[in-house]
Amino acid sequence: MLKGKVAVVTGGTRGIGYAIVKKYLENGAKVVLFGSRDETVNKALAALKEENPDWEVSGYAPNLLDPKALEETIAKIKEQYGRIDILVNNAGISDSTKIDDYTAEQFAKVMDLNVKAIFNAILPTVKIMKEQGGGCIINTSSMVSISGQPSGVAYPTSKTAVNGLTWSLARELGPSNIRVNAVAPGITKTDMVAALPEQMIAPLIKMIPLRRIGEPEDVANAFLYLASDLASYVTGEILSVDGAMRS
Ligand code: NAD
Repeated sequence: MLKGKVAVVTGGTRGIGYAIVKKYLENGAKVVLFGSRDETVNKALAALKEENPDWEVSGYAPNLLDPKALEETIAKIKEQYGRIDILVNNAGISDSTKIDDYTAEQFAKVMDLNVKAIFNAILPTVKIMKEQGGGCIINTSSMVSISGQPSGVAYPTSKTAVNGLTWSLARELGPSNIRVNAVAPGITKTDMVAALPEQMIAPLIKMIPLRRIGEPEDVANAFLYLASDLASYVTGEILSVDGAMRS
């Protein structure tokens, strides 16, 4: 479904991002994954190469909060592969701090990675996509961007901002043939959720109409659809992948 396409995936070393990287590789894309440290990038690359030595995958660990670092890394990728067709902005941190315990610094930390870093990655990539006549950007939002959550106010605030950025850029970049969408996962079995004890998981499952926690692959399938030509007329969409838990 993605034969010949070049994709960049931030937060691609584990969890949902790693599942997206794998799904894109399985579907014929060349993938550049980003992680927060060289060590974790190399570990992810080794695991992928072990699974299939023919997959064309490489990686970097640019500081997503530094616009210059991103500009340089995106320029390197363009030099290496000649184009960037798909940008997945998936790196993110969550938060569950109660309002009385919050600091301004902590609020800013969540907003910086979950919102500003997306802007920083989009800026140099859009220039390349415009030059090549089109592309596709997919951001990771969250179910709580719609519902809010009972603590950790910065997290849903940041994800609602991701939706706003997605809707607005879809309108602005549509005439340049650049589609901009987001995926809003519900509770997904990444390392943190998988480590929860059974007595915490059971009541959560009862709240999910599909009666199971989402797998990273469930979410990656939505990223595959949105990146593919099957979604050629889909832009400005926030696609929920949450077993209908949001309702
Ligand atoms: P995870 O913690 O397993 O992975 C996070 C990824 O982001 C890692 O690859 C990490 O390298 C990267 N990252 C974290 N901090 C970084 C930093 N400072 N600089 C650069 N990269 C950094 O998380 P996950 O559960 O796979 O989450 C991925 C995305 O999905 C996030 O945006 C998260 O908000 C969103 N999400 C997750 C769930 C869930 O239940 N797991 C639900 C809804 C939305």
